[in-house]
Amino acid sequence: MHTRRDFLQKLTYTALAAPLLSAAQPLTFLNSNHDTYNGPVLRVAIMGLGGYGTRVAQAMELCKKAKLTGLISGTPKKVQQWQAKYNIPDKNCYNYENFDEVRDNPDIDAIYVITPNALHYEHVIRAAKAGKHVICEKPMAINAKEGEDMVRKCKEANVKLLVGYRMHFEPKTLEVVQMRRNGDFGKVHFFQGQCGFRIGDPNQWRLNKDLAGGGALVDIGIYAINGARYMLGEEPVWVTAQETKTDLVKFKEGVDETILFQLGFPSGALAACLSTYNMNNLDRFFLTGEKGFAEMQPSTGYGPIEGRTHKGKLTHPHVTHQTLQMDEMAAIILEDTNPIITVDGEEGLKDLKIIDAIYKSCKTGEKVTLAL
Ligand code: NAD
Repeated sequence: MHTRRDFLQKLTYTALAAPLLSAAQPLTFLNSNHDTYNGPVLRVAIMGLGGYGTRVAQAMELCKKAKLTGLISGTPKKVQQWQAKYNIPDKNCYNYENFDEVRDNPDIDAIYVITPNALHYEHVIRAAKAGKHVICEKPMAINAKEGEDMVRKCKEANVKLLVGYRMHFEPKTLEVVQMRRNGDFGKVHFFQGQCGFRIGDPNQWRLNKDLAGGGALVDIGIYAINGARYMLGEEPVWVTAQETKTDLVKFKEGVDETILFQLGFPSGALAACLSTYNMNNLDRFFLTGEKGFAEMQPSTGYGPIEGRTHKGKLTHPHVTHQTLQMDEMAAIILEDTNPIITVDGEEGLKDLKIIDAIYKSCKTGEKVTLAL
């Protein structure tokens, strides 16, 4: 049985000390803290300098174990701006045609793939073939077949493959997971995950099947799928799902707008989840067991995450998710540490298998069995 002490020990520097490093802290304090760290540092190239790549790069400025040392982009102007901001030399900058040459670059240990979903497959495999560890954004790929191939090719290349599941390091999330592991909720019977937002610009890649690989489910519904698994601590054995579309122009064939899905687990526990691109203020987890409950809202946004259980409010302080994630991922890659909730390629693949099953169930109207 995992104890609270084990849990607190696992929340290393980043989770316990980094809350002190709020935006209000003077940079000199941060720097002096960095100066005291003499351990290994993961040197990371970001591929895809878009919205989320920008957020990750900013968060990494506060990391002690991870550092941005390279850039991969198809837009020279962005590369120049990032080079100036992060002091990246020309020799560490690549585009999508020549990034295989990163194999000969000793300044880069890992590539963080933050490109549109359907490109992850090619980008991850090329990064692995170049001998670099890979962190890939969610969804890891657009179907389980691709995901299996990515896991296999990264193993063959002897590099680690991690998925950008930032919630797996988020302190309040871990507080609830630890309570469940400690038996504080008793036997857990039910999880509810509601994840969505109202999507804007109809021309963005998220609404283009060729680049997104799907719709809301692969983008935001995946948080409910993944959350059901880490909150219940089991793997689902069946899926049922129903889809509805109110805008056939915006949400074309293969791009889902709203899906309700249910997951059944070996213990008899159930999950009921909603994934949508058509409703705002939808970011909620609820878990109930024979002795208690947890509710989190917001549950997977950039935070602060808020929540309470039958024992009271969740109290762990907010930490910038991506700072925590990148420090912990650096430790996984460089020091072989084990995260409290796994973030490897196999973990990403399980979600892809569930996504495939949800789409299949929407199409057939049938219950789909799973063997994860
Ligand atoms: P974005 O559109 O802001 O950025 C995508 C980047 O990919 C851009 O810089 C774009 O130039 C580049 N790109 C390369 N080839 C492209 C092509 N053929 N077409 C379009 N763009 C191309 O998107 P984003 O929000 O940064 O999302 C990128 C990835 O990050 C997605 O997989 C998404 O699911 C993931 N993401 C994760 C989180 C999280 O919290 N973990 C949050 C947002 C996005």
